Amino acid sequence: MALTGVEIFKLLPKTNCKKCGHPTCLAFAMKLAQRQASLDACPDVSEDAKRLLGEASAPPVRPISLGSGEKAVKMGEETVLFRHEKKFVNPCVFAVEIKDSLSEPEITKIVEEVVASEIDRVGQKLRIDAIFLSNTSGDAGKFEGAVRTILSKAPAVPLIIATSNPAAAEAALKAAADKRPLLYGADESNADAMAGLAKTYKVPLGVYAKGLEALSSLTEKIKSLGVEDMVVDSGSRTAKEILAGNTLARRAAIKKNFKALGYPVITFAQRDDHMLEMLVAALGVTKYSSLVVMSSIEKWKNLALFTLRQNIYTDPQVPMQVEQKVYKIGEASPDAPLMITTNFSLTYFIVSGEVENSKVPSRLAVMDCEGLSVLTGWAAGKFSASKIAQFIQDSGVEKDIKHKELIIPGYVAILSGAIEEKLPGWKVTVGPREANALPAFLKSRS
Ligand code: SF4
Repeated sequence: MALTGVEIFKLLPKTNCKKCGHPTCLAFAMKLAQRQASLDACPDVSEDAKRLLGEASAPPVRPISLGSGEKAVKMGEETVLFRHEKKFVNPCVFAVEIKDSLSEPEITKIVEEVVASEIDRVGQKLRIDAIFLSNTSGDAGKFEGAVRTILSKAPAVPLIIATSNPAAAEAALKAAADKRPLLYGADESNADAMAGLAKTYKVPLGVYAKGLEALSSLTEKIKSLGVEDMVVDSGSRTAKEILAGNTLARRAAIKKNFKALGYPVITFAQRDDHMLEMLVAALGVTKYSSLVVMSSIEKWKNLALFTLRQNIYTDPQVPMQVEQKVYKIGEASPDAPLMITTNFSLTYFIVSGEVENSKVPSRLAVMDCEGLSVLTGWAAGKFSASKIAQFIQDSGVEKDIKHKELIIPGYVAILSGAIEEKLPGWKVTVGPREANALPAFLKSRS
């Protein structure tokens, strides 16, 4: 079980030296208990305490990294059952299945779709994160060849090597040795050989057993063989099984600190009916899957799942924000209108969407108001005349435009005079109150 702050405090040096960045050892202990600090921050902690505290402060769902380089992803590290309690930490990884029985051009086409799947939303890059290569051919040479084809086209995309045949696994691992792939396919029948490969090639191991009881026995066995990093599969395939299996595993890990199930969970969502596949994947996103495997890439499916994942994995206590800057919408010339709004992501998307709809090339100055909307930002004193004036001056937008007119949201019409006072030579125009009136407003001016 997790230690309390006071129990942790008893194991710390109690010198209050502040090297950890906290005023006292007790304050640091409290942060450790809440899993908001890392033990590494205290340089004077004893080896014994390190061992005890290391175990106690480890997240109940083990963190596992997949891939290497810029597109590497992390799974697990979760500490709560519900996101409103704190937040979910590592977004569920989406993988698309490629069967090694496909021809090289067919494999290449899917790999290209994976690479092209990336979109930018609220300043985050969202994409199909990984490729799940399954050894459906049963042929080790073909499997290895498919790994090489994938890596030649997309060397940065994390790879899951799926086979229960240790010989095929080894051939594939040799080809992807420095990429830290996940080796999926350990079961009761091949556990020793697969654990040996995971240790030799220093890769995480995907472990399958039918049912949570058998799965926990198998993860304990594999752990005793020296493999710590695992991703688990309890054989849940229907939506009902996935919901029940994932929930029970997460509860066991979080509430009971049951280490044998404290690993990221893999979910197989592949269905012939792609709408159903999307729904099963969505169930995985909302209910504790760390890795969801799908059969295909389709833009509509991606957009729905990316948005859902982003919403589930944002910190509910921190408003979503976009970067403060002056955004160009369309081919904005120096004469294009200049508008201003706040950096609450929803506000930005609604306003920029309506400006795009107007087809009037424009500039949209997005000001950092800590993620607050226009009215809330104004009420909180963050979207004030002086701050707006300062932002416009600091942004350097003046050198890009020929006019000196700033269009402000109708909800803060009251600020127009004060902004003009603080921005000498500028004209402030009051725009519509609602974003959906922007297209008519902009068109009437052009
Ligand atoms: S660095 Fe260690 S000893 Fe110093 S205040 Fe922090 S917890 Fe206490």
